[in-house]
Amino acid sequence: KTVCVTGASGFVASNLVKLLLQQGYSVKASVRSPNNLTKTEHLLKLDGAKERLHLFKADLLENGSFDAVIDGCDGVFHTASPFFNTVTDPQKELIEPALKGTLNVLDSCSKASSVKRVVVTSSLAAVVYNARPKTPEVVVDETWFSDPQLCKEMKWWYALSKTLAEDAAWKFAEEKGMDIVTINPAMVIGPLLQSTLNTSAEEIAQLLNGSETYPNSSLAWVNVKDVANAHIQAFEIPSASGRYCMVESVVHNSELIEILRRLYPASQLPQKCADNKPHAPTFQVSNEKVKSLGIDYITLEQSIKETVESLKEKNFVK
Ligand code: NDP
Repeated sequence: KTVCVTGASGFVASNLVKLLLQQGYSVKASVRSPNNLTKTEHLLKLDGAKERLHLFKADLLENGSFDAVIDGCDGVFHTASPFFNTVTDPQKELIEPALKGTLNVLDSCSKASSVKRVVVTSSLAAVVYNARPKTPEVVVDETWFSDPQLCKEMKWWYALSKTLAEDAAWKFAEEKGMDIVTINPAMVIGPLLQSTLNTSAEEIAQLLNGSETYPNSSLAWVNVKDVANAHIQAFEIPSASGRYCMVESVVHNSELIEILRRLYPASQLPQKCADNKPHAPTFQVSNEKVKSLGIDYITLEQSIKETVESLKEKNFVK
């Protein structure tokens, strides 16, 4: 079978391309700059790449840019979307590529009669950012949606970009009668295949790079190999539908530091929380739905270990 992966040079997509090639798929992959080896070399070196990986140039903001890479594919994995926390022009840097890009990709899919299903990489950021209280007893599930108005007020621009993009995807799919599924992962960590540092792995790198304090926040985490596998299962299992939240565990940064200290006792980790306020509460995320994709999560400790090994190997941490 032939499938398309958009934004193939990225952290999540590279792991997805690797798994697809391992499973015998032919992969048409979109990248912004096919000739930039810094972005593509790791893909070209994957097992099976020589025979079954084909790179195409496409940009989220260019209409029709994805026609050629999607044409003839049985399935499409739309992962391309900017993920940055620091931006100067959120509309230009995050919202337009996420929102217009998703509609641009889906439009190309609707023109390709070969495409049976589109798996869209959304985010837990399109699920949890609403006014509902988050406490250790609360169980978030796929019925939750982030509130764009709140995201705007709080200047949570990345969350806003993912919320608007997912909402537009569902509306487009309904209008066109298109079969789409979304995967809504938490912060994704695990082995980095690409040679650049992505935003979620950077969260871990920052804790290991000599800062004195850790932020008073609780974050949800999941391993990139589970996320890649869930994308493929969501394409292959005929009854898969709707959204799938993916969270192995939600922990306060203090717990993350404890795990890092246990694994790497010699490393220089932040000693104290950035403020003296009560710890930001954790919450739960339901695993019920993702179980139907056969996902048995890799533990947070193992995911942290794999991330740090990668970060060290690539000299992103000392
Ligand atoms: P990366 O930054 O590693 O990858 C993002 C990808 O999007 C890159 O390939 C990038 O291309 C591409 N991209 C960005 N802007 C454009 C554009 N204008 N045109 C074409 N391609 C573009 O991030 P991740 O791998 O972490 O994220 C991948 C997906 O997963 C995103 O949709 C993200 O929202 C989602 N996600 C990620 C999570 C995480 O914790 N990492 C959590 C939940 C969801 P280039 O290499 O050329 O810059």
